[in-house]
Amino acid sequence: MEYLSDRVKSLSVSQTLAMAQKSRELKARGIDIISLSLGEPDFNTPDHIKEAAKKAIDDNYSKYPPVPGYDDLRKAISKKFRVENGLEYSPDQIIVSAGGKHSLINVILTLINPGDEVIILAPYWVSYYDQVILAGGKPVIVEATIENDFKVNPAQLEASITERTRLIMFNSPSNPTGMVYNYDEMEKIARIVEKHEGLFIISDEIYEHIIFTGKHISLASFGYIYDRVITVNGVSKGFAMTGWRIGYIGAPLWIARGCNKLQGQFTSGVCSIAQRAALAAIEGGNETVILMKDAFLRRRDLLCGLLNEVKGLKVRVPQGAFYVMPDISFYLGKSYGLTQINNSDDLALYLLDQAQVATVGGDAFGAPGCLRISYATSDELLVEAVRRIKSALEKLN
Ligand code: PMP
Ligand code: GLU
Repeated sequence: MEYLSDRVKSLSVSQTLAMAQKSRELKARGIDIISLSLGEPDFNTPDHIKEAAKKAIDDNYSKYPPVPGYDDLRKAISKKFRVENGLEYSPDQIIVSAGGKHSLINVILTLINPGDEVIILAPYWVSYYDQVILAGGKPVIVEATIENDFKVNPAQLEASITERTRLIMFNSPSNPTGMVYNYDEMEKIARIVEKHEGLFIISDEIYEHIIFTGKHISLASFGYIYDRVITVNGVSKGFAMTGWRIGYIGAPLWIARGCNKLQGQFTSGVCSIAQRAALAAIEGGNETVILMKDAFLRRRDLLCGLLNEVKGLKVRVPQGAFYVMPDISFYLGKSYGLTQINNSDDLALYLLDQAQVATVGGDAFGAPGCLRISYATSDELLVEAVRRIKSALEKLN
């Protein structure tokens, strides 16, 4: 007999991680899977960062670290925010956590009471929805479709605010669509937040370095809402450090203190060695990030060009991150043999089975007619993946 809490029962399994696990298992059985499911850079962590971690072990960074992160790391993040983002966060407004995902749940648990409404702009990153559920909050989805370049219309956003709305989840460059909000669009959102006292907004800027349309804009740089923005970031994507698990926030002091209190009961701070590596990453400049970005841009163009030639797919060229989200609704309702494609998850499973290509269905991202493809892989594999996808789709009718 199992006695799982209602809390755990109410959660969905992360579809990104589930698809990644499925493709690992198939690969381990010797099946030639091309994995375009997991969003992580295919590059290795740069050498100077690895060296810093090795040195940290030799220097005996083996004791409990301070709960909010080492002082020098928080100072380096504070400087990074000032220099790169034009944001003034003192070190005590910064909390280092075990990945951006952990930073996000800290903030949500710090701000949300059961029944509070949290607006999530769809398509959204999978974990936003379930993290809100975990906090007892009520997700309110404001949807954007491919026709609007996957960006929500400010009037639609405003119409969804009620007296119970406490938080908005904002993410640009976006996972899963790769879309980037421009200055004017962000200003409209900032003005809406400004109007509603007691309304906060998380700005998830984890893809800030992977942007192909000029310079990243931080939401908190709209000074009139600085006190209402929680800026979330981390080293996973920009420095190819997904496995090191380091994320951080810059936030109003009372929110940072709340997260610190929570973290003190959850994790006693974050792995000491990974923190020393993150310090080297943040102090070491963005040279390797720029090289990765060039590779992602080349792959984006390659992939979008190829996908555009596949019958029935609608593609918007992403402006950042390393995802593209084609609309696949043309294929819904079609079938091959006994396999019927009723939704995007069916299509993702069909492609895994028939094309040996792992993607993630759009449903988990609040984008039911779409498929998410991560192009953080080599040019050769992208070409082969689209060749396989195309021939599998041609069999559907
Ligand atoms: N936010 C977004 C939008 C993401 O795609 C991810 C996925 N890595 C995260 C946050 C969390 O990243 P991590 O926990 O690896 O720092
Ligand atoms: N953020 C990545 C993705 O969306 C990693 C997986 C995860 O953390 O959910 O694929």
